[in-house]
Amino acid sequence: MSNQKADPNKQQWEDSEFPIVCETCLGDNPYVRMTKDSFGKECKICSRPFTVFRWLPGTNMRYKKTEICQTCAKLKNVCQTCVLDLQYGLPVQVRDEALNIKSEAPNSDINRQYYAQNIAGKDTDISHYDASKAAPENRDVLRRLARNEPYYKRNRPHICSFFVKGECNRGAECPFRHELPGGDAELAQQNIKDRYYGNNDPVANKMLSRVRTSGSSLAPPQDKTISSLFITGVEDEITETDIREVFCTYGQVKSVVVVHRSKCAFVNYATRSAAELAAQNIADRGLNIKNRALRVAWGKPRPQGPRSDTRKQGKLLLSFNEGIYRMI
Ligand SMILES: [Zn+2]
Ligand SMILES: [Zn+2]
Ligand SMILES: [Zn+2]
Repeated sequence: MSNQKADPNKQQWEDSEFPIVCETCLGDNPYVRMTKDSFGKECKICSRPFTVFRWLPGTNMRYKKTEICQTCAKLKNVCQTCVLDLQYGLPVQVRDEALNIKSEAPNSDINRQYYAQNIAGKDTDISHYDASKAAPENRDVLRRLARNEPYYKRNRPHICSFFVKGECNRGAECPFRHELPGGDAELAQQNIKDRYYGNNDPVANKMLSRVRTSGSSLAPPQDKTISSLFITGVEDEITETDIREVFCTYGQVKSVVVVHRSKCAFVNYATRSAAELAAQNIADRGLNIKNRALRVAWGKPRPQGPRSDTRKQGKLLLSFNEGIYRMI
């Protein structure tokens, strides 16, 4: 082991015959030609030199190349180019949260290269990425989010930054796309290491918050006296002011109570209609504050007395409800 670290030589570098890439990145031409550059670049995750493949994934598309080495790709079961999961086409963070997987690979720069060297050439066990072993509700999340067909549009040239500023004079010769930025803007801001390790990936957060807030949980409750929303996933950096700022756009907020210890918050609206408007908007768009995907549910009915049925709703929620209603 020690000589591996002391004598970095080509034996620990990675050479390969064909890349591990997803169908989308490969493109629609089955006879795609690739150029191969052994040890052409350093892997963007472990920084070991690896074989870089480059190809054109179809006409009017942009050249693609492998960005991370095969060892790193295999460890997370992701494409060497787009770093999305090979089976579901999903960001690592989305897949791992759905499958309840905790990151095993080291995050620190010092350990990363060493880890990849030791794991290289060994068979990597990726069976934990198999959805058939997941809990049914998690399988459902994957099924709803997964891309079942290649999405070749992703291979189009990037948007021309000069065109956006109204300054491109290359016209039809311009290799970049003459379009105003739309949904791709967030992708451009992603950091490859964050995406690989599934940390704070803005696209993943958006997808997850959409899943968490969609469905029946945000249908208005029968009890018309309920005009409060319950928010979970409230990390320490999210303040009462942050929450108030988002929720006051839908109507008058009577009070906001944040309980960081339990990572949750309550938003009480002055009117039921404001709460319904907020719930509707969040169900459609999800709730993201400071790059965190938050979950939202309706508040529970006010407990009628100590022997009330609401006791069945779980101690935690009930105690918050009681606390909040006392405060009002
Ligand atoms: Zn690597
Ligand atoms: Zn890919
Ligand atoms: Zn241009």
